[in-house]
Amino acid sequence: MSRTLLLRVSAGILFLVGGWIAYTQNRGGAAPQLTVNKVKDDLYEIEGDGGNVAVYITNEGLILVDDKYERDHEAIMEKLKGISNQPVKYILSTHYHEDHSGGNAKFLSTAEIISTANARKNIVNRVQSNAGIVPSPARVTFTQESDLFLGGKEVRARFFGRGHTNGDAVIYFPALRTIHTGDLMAGNTPLIDYPGGGSLVDWTATLDEVMHDLDFDVVIPGHGAVTTKPGLLAYRNGVERLQNRVRGLIREGKSADDVGKVMIAEYGWVDKDLHFQWSLPGMMTELR
Ligand SMILES: [Zn+2]
Repeated sequence: MSRTLLLRVSAGILFLVGGWIAYTQNRGGAAPQLTVNKVKDDLYEIEGDGGNVAVYITNEGLILVDDKYERDHEAIMEKLKGISNQPVKYILSTHYHEDHSGGNAKFLSTAEIISTANARKNIVNRVQSNAGIVPSPARVTFTQESDLFLGGKEVRARFFGRGHTNGDAVIYFPALRTIHTGDLMAGNTPLIDYPGGGSLVDWTATLDEVMHDLDFDVVIPGHGAVTTKPGLLAYRNGVERLQNRVRGLIREGKSADDVGKVMIAEYGWVDKDLHFQWSLPGMMTELR
């Protein structure tokens, strides 16, 4: 065996071993790595694996925004112990996706979960094609707005219009001038869940209303680092650029395949990923 070949074989074995370790660790249920950030007084945020969880401390219990995947439940509870000894009383759910609502079942016996009516419908109708575990639906729903009062503090959940889905709630902490956007702001490129009632066209108008109606300076996005109102405005403008790009391509007569290639080159889509399944067919129809 030549030295080069030997090196290649060794590298191959290392790769296989590395992959095997990752696989068995997952099967063994290694705790997902979550990190806690303080956002403002009495408001924390838990990042890592799944959507960002907000934690609002009151002297009558905790109010959470979202609860990640079911597999994150124990790690979330562990992090909460480091923040407060109050029990979780309410979970305000931003939308129906498993990475935001997957932990619902674990909380339902001890806490109340509140979502938009459409988020509940999408769970009940099993709309999410790639869900591993279908989340338990909220027992309390609203169509426009729900105000929650606990321990002298207030949190508002409000539906502003279609965007990521047809039931995205924006959660507002008025005393802290802070919002949690759910996936109306998430990552670099918007994922439009057309099967779940999402809309790329309405998305910008929805964010415009959020910025017009709510008085805030800090933004907790659905995924990614905490940002500011200008950060949300920049994201909104990115959504508008995407609208214009796709509309222009369709006017040039480009096919869905062509548009998909541009999205891979310019927007970081990965071939056959969720964007191709959920976003592309709907974009081709909506922006025609
Ligand atoms: Zn989502």
